[in-house]
Amino acid sequence: MGHLDSHCHLDDPRFAPDFPAVAARAAAVGITHVVVPGVDLASLAKPLPEDPAMTLYRAAGLHPAFLHADNALDQLAAALERGGIVAVGECGLDRRHRSPGDLQRFHGQLDLAVAFDLPVILHVVHAHDEVLAALKTRPLRGIVHAFAGPWPLAKRYLDLGILLGIGGIGTWATSKRLHETIGACPSDGFVLETDAPDLSPSWIRGQRNEPAELVGIASAVARLRGSSPEEVLAASDTQGSELFRIR
Ligand SMILES: [Zn+2]
Repeated sequence: MGHLDSHCHLDDPRFAPDFPAVAARAAAVGITHVVVPGVDLASLAKPLPEDPAMTLYRAAGLHPAFLHADNALDQLAAALERGGIVAVGECGLDRRHRSPGDLQRFHGQLDLAVAFDLPVILHVVHAHDEVLAALKTRPLRGIVHAFAGPWPLAKRYLDLGILLGIGGIGTWATSKRLHETIGACPSDGFVLETDAPDLSPSWIRGQRNEPAELVGIASAVARLRGSSPEEVLAASDTQGSELFRIR
């Protein structure tokens, strides 16, 4: 298997015009497996794009920054029942976007992950204490996506079986405290992600991100860890494929 991008929105309309070219550029640098997180029920209803160069895996979740129907949790449960889904997410709490029922919806998704024996993909903004408290009461594994916090906070997630999702923010020169976290994290404590089309690495900041950029993220992480990009990619692939059960 080639390398895994653990979080990439290849179903985003921004990829629709040239998806085969995006997939080809990724495959040319060895990125051939991609987990596509869900954000709402509409995204779940659409088939994932297909390309012979790339294997896509679907996660299903109700993103905390979006509004959802009252029965969204039931519909999510029905989708999980149908199968073919590797994780529950993105789910979480984003305190920039409070919405009615968001805490209940988050807890409900954690309970579904436990019930279906799936990992979670967490989106957390200004809500780490609330999220960690919810995780503590449930036997879960997963990823805290786009992690950018200090090492003591990272350690609290790792102690609960949650891996750090490391992406483009780690490449930004201004991310000093994240650089320390990346340097301190054990090699079985992180997975790489692009979060494309968002969260561009520094060299293309503001432009559309894409899965091929995972290699540049691996290089930046390797420099911070005194390691090689190959070692970083291998460590990430091992953790990601085990977590999502996709090898
Ligand atoms: Zn995302």
